[in-house]
Amino acid sequence: MSESTAPQWHSPGRFEALGPAFFTYLQPSPVSAPYWVATSASTAHWMGLNPDWLRSDEALQALSGSAIAPGSKPLASVYSGHQFGHWAGQLGDGRAIMLGETAQGFEVQLKGAGRTPYSRGGDGRAVLRSSIREFLCSEAMAALGIPTTRALALTGSPLPVARESIETAAVVTRVAVSFVRFGHFEHFAARDMQTELKALADMVIDQHYPECRTATALNGNAYANFLQAVSERTARLLAQWQAVGFCHGVMNTDNMSILGLTIDYGPFQFLDAFDPGHICNHSDNQGRYAFNRQPQVAYWNLYCLGQALLPLIGDEELTIAALESYKTVFPAAYATQMLRKLGLPDDAPGTAAGEGRFAQIVNPLLQILADNKVDYTIFFTRLTEAVTQAKDGQPDLEPLRDIILDRATFDAWSLTYSEQLAQVDQAQSANWMQKSNPRYVLRNHLGETVIRAAQGGDFAPVQQILAVLQAPYDSHPDHGDWAGFPPDWASSIEISCSS
Ligand code: AMP
Ligand code: MG
Repeated sequence: MSESTAPQWHSPGRFEALGPAFFTYLQPSPVSAPYWVATSASTAHWMGLNPDWLRSDEALQALSGSAIAPGSKPLASVYSGHQFGHWAGQLGDGRAIMLGETAQGFEVQLKGAGRTPYSRGGDGRAVLRSSIREFLCSEAMAALGIPTTRALALTGSPLPVARESIETAAVVTRVAVSFVRFGHFEHFAARDMQTELKALADMVIDQHYPECRTATALNGNAYANFLQAVSERTARLLAQWQAVGFCHGVMNTDNMSILGLTIDYGPFQFLDAFDPGHICNHSDNQGRYAFNRQPQVAYWNLYCLGQALLPLIGDEELTIAALESYKTVFPAAYATQMLRKLGLPDDAPGTAAGEGRFAQIVNPLLQILADNKVDYTIFFTRLTEAVTQAKDGQPDLEPLRDIILDRATFDAWSLTYSEQLAQVDQAQSANWMQKSNPRYVLRNHLGETVIRAAQGGDFAPVQQILAVLQAPYDSHPDHGDWAGFPPDWASSIEISCSS
């Protein structure tokens, strides 16, 4: 791509080529007086775009939805889904408009760019507050190595948007190799639109899961292998969420990516104190999407996807068999992640020895963290420091004892842990831990702090925290407080679906 130029649109993109049953062409609705809030040079590099373009007025107009770039044919897609366990019927991109697919194969969406035929009662807008959260968390997750849609830019506008109070509008530019959701499949299956269902599955398999065409497992059934591959990607995603303490908050099937990406950041939260039953969505009265229920919910959602794919797979038993792998891949991936956080090997996954280590070390530790309401991220940061700096293989666990009330139980656990740790090369343990235990996660209070600054017209903190979250395993001496304990007011932050 030439210097500082706009994305080159490739038309028809792979999604667009599916045809008019899948979307509606439409223009974003311009906003008044758009301004930059933040941009991500990292996303620009990732998608092969010169970040200098993000400084141009042309980019500001294009990414706030105020001007259409040449070659772009914007569209909104239709999907359906299960919300909070119930069939919700047709949904669709109610406020996300896809500008197109770049020549390099990246789909670019503007979230909050106005009404679409799928807006139902909504205004098609997003407010600055929730857009800052989505922008920052997309980039934080990417830097943590967790699959996610990316964010290229965040623009704001004085345009008033009515939520519980009057706020102002913002637009996040999201980027992904594909924005296809489980709900896209459910939509065509529910309407018995077999031709469209097959066209969608064939496109996604050919573009993103080509190995399913030649796989011999599951009777060589490409659609069953596709379901299995999605189940496995989703299992690995969930293992990463659970290990880092990420709560999504709205795991409806329309918010599940067919590529196993984290998508649609709403009332998400990184745990402060470890609380397995934590509910981060203030509107989730039943706790359906509580932190410790996420892995089960993902399986439930995959089951919905399986039902949608059943007409293509053509065999119920094969469909169930394709979903089975979730039940082995998730626990194995989660065990690996948790053991790495502790600097221990996962050399025996699925065996009695491997499971023994998990049962002996990880489960009791999580119980201690829960019983003592220990800060999840800080516990693992301190443990990493203790192991990295250990003399004669003996880590000094005093800084950890300091944050635990029930010291007797912790001391007993420490003995078992130290024995296990002594069997591993210290440099190896330290290396695993430094790559698995972030110092910085986007805690609610950090988001809230930069949101308040931005609402007051100061956008510098958004860009500053972005830089820190893009290197979450490093120490940033100038921003040590962002790695500290949450203030008391953090527990009173309520994040609802209102965004
Ligand atoms: P969510 O739970 O945020 O993933 O949204 C569920 C559905 O509501 C999707 O179809 C969204 O596009 C739609 N939606 C959410 N907020 C709005 C809004 N302000 N205007 C139009 N549609 C919206
Ligand atoms: Mg959604």
